[in-house]
Amino acid sequence: GTADAECDVLVLGAGPGGYSAAFRAADLGLSVVLVERYATLGGVCLNVGCIPSKALLHTAAVLEEAQSLAAHGIKFNKPEIDLDALRAHKDEVVGKLTGGLAGMAKARKVKVVTGKGQFADPYHLTVTADDGSAQTVKFKSAIIAAGSQSVKLPFFPEDSRIVDSTGALLLANIPKKMLIVGGGIIGLEMGTVYSALGSRLDVVEMQSGLMQGADRDMVKVWEKMNARRFDQIMLDTKTVGAEAKDDGIWVRFEGAKAPKEAQRYDLVLQAVGRTPNGKTLAADKAGVQVTDRGYIEVDKQMRTNVAHIYAIGDIVGQPMLAHKAVHEGHVAAEVIAGQKSFFDARVIPSVAYTDPEVAWVGLTEDEARKEGIAIQKGLFPWAASGRAIANGRDEGFTKLLFDAETKRILGGGIVGTHAGDLISEVALAIEMGADAVDIGKTIHPHPTLGESIGMAAEVAEGTCTDLP
Ligand code: FAD
Repeated sequence: GTADAECDVLVLGAGPGGYSAAFRAADLGLSVVLVERYATLGGVCLNVGCIPSKALLHTAAVLEEAQSLAAHGIKFNKPEIDLDALRAHKDEVVGKLTGGLAGMAKARKVKVVTGKGQFADPYHLTVTADDGSAQTVKFKSAIIAAGSQSVKLPFFPEDSRIVDSTGALLLANIPKKMLIVGGGIIGLEMGTVYSALGSRLDVVEMQSGLMQGADRDMVKVWEKMNARRFDQIMLDTKTVGAEAKDDGIWVRFEGAKAPKEAQRYDLVLQAVGRTPNGKTLAADKAGVQVTDRGYIEVDKQMRTNVAHIYAIGDIVGQPMLAHKAVHEGHVAAEVIAGQKSFFDARVIPSVAYTDPEVAWVGLTEDEARKEGIAIQKGLFPWAASGRAIANGRDEGFTKLLFDAETKRILGGGIVGTHAGDLISEVALAIEMGADAVDIGKTIHPHPTLGESIGMAAEVAEGTCTDLP
C-alpha cells in the first residue's frame, strides 16, 4: 500500500526502551520513526513514573530530615506546604527531561509521529491522532516498546478518591487517611511522599510481607524506621470490595488477620502491579504472538517470532524497570544495524527509593536458602560506619553474598540512605566476576557509605578490622 512515511526502523512507544532504541538506531545510521500516543516523549518513567516520584521523594526526604535535626540542636518551624508550588516543581523536573528528549530526537533526525499506533500488516503501522486523522508508516524493521499500564481491581468504583500511581502523582490534595493497596515498591514510595506531607497510612498486601523480592532482614530495617507512618499494615489480606460514600471510600478486607469492619479512607491508591500493553497493538496483523497476559516473547536479541520485529521493555516481561528497558532498546537497535549484540546482563538491580532506601542485585539470601546455594556472607552494619553515624542515619547495613567455593560475588543488598546509588558497585562487581579479595582490597574513600561495600567483603573474608 501507500505510506505517508517510510523508515528503516519504526519504534512504537517513546518510553525509556523506545527512545533509547530510537536514538541508538539513528546513531548507527538508520532512518527512524518514533511513534508515541502522548504529546511528550519519555513514557511512563519520565512522565508518570520514576522521575516525578523521585522529585517528590526528594522533597519528602529533605522535609523529614530537616525535622529530624531537632535532635542535632537545630529546630525549624512546622513546615508550610504549598501544594501548587510542589506540583509545579515536579512538573518542571519532568518538563526539563521530556523537553531534553525532544531535542535529542531532533538532533538525530528521529521523526516523531504523535498518535496511537496499530499494525496494519508486517511492514505497515497505522497511526491515529487524537483528532481521528490517520497516517501509515512503512518500515523495514520495527521495535515494539509500548510498555505497561497499572492493573485496576474490578471491584473499585469510579471515583476521584480511588487512584493509581498516575493519579497519586497528581497530588490533588493531602488526604488525612490513605490506603495503599499492594505493598510493593511503587505503593510504598507513594506512601512515603504522602506520609511526609501529613497523611496517615494503611497498607494491605496479599502476601506475607511487604516489598517482595527483597531479603527480609533489609525489609525489617525499613519497617522499623517506617512503622510510625502506618496505622495498620495488613499482611496476608485481600481487598474484596469498596463503596464510595460522601465521607470517604469504605473498603472491605478478607483474611485471618483482616479487620472485620469496612475501613474508611480519604484516598485509596491501587498499586497491585502493572500489565503489559501487548493486546492493544493489533500485533496479530503483523503476525507477532502475544501471550494471554499481554506479553510479547523475545529471544536474547530482542527478536519476536517475526524476524524483523523486535520488542523491549515492560512489554517483554519482568522486571518492569527503566534501566532494563534501556539496555534492551540498545540491543534491539544494534542487532537491526547488523551488530552481534545480545541482552545477557548477569543481573538487574532493584531499588525501593523509600526512606531508608532498599536496594538489591543478583542472588538474595532468601533465594540462596531456598535453592540450597552454599554462600559466604559478609554483612557490615552501618552502626560501625563513621559516615553513617555522622549523617545521623546508621540503621542500615551492607550485605554481600559470595559463592562459598569460588568466592565470587553472587549478590548483594543494601538498606540505608543512598542505597540505590551504592548498589551499582555491587552490580559492577558481579558483572566483572569479582571475588571478596578484589572488593576488599579496592580502596574506597573514607568516610563514605560506599566504604561499607569494601568492609562487607572483608567481613566475608574474615579480615575486617572495622567492627567493634
Ligand atoms: P513505557 O515507559 O511504559 O513507555 C511506553 C510508551 O508507549 C508510553 O509512552 C505509551 O504512551 C506508548 N504507547 C503504548 N501503546 C502505544 C500505541 N499503541 N501507540 C503509540 N504509543 C503507545 N522503574 C525504574 O527503573 N525506576 C524507578 O524508580 C521507577 N519508578 C516507577 C514509579 C512509578 C510510579 C511507575 C508507574 C513506574 C516506575 N518504574 C520505575 C517503572 C518504569 O517506569 C518502567 O519500567 C519503564 O517506564 C518501562 O519503559 P518502557 O519503555 O518499556 O515503556
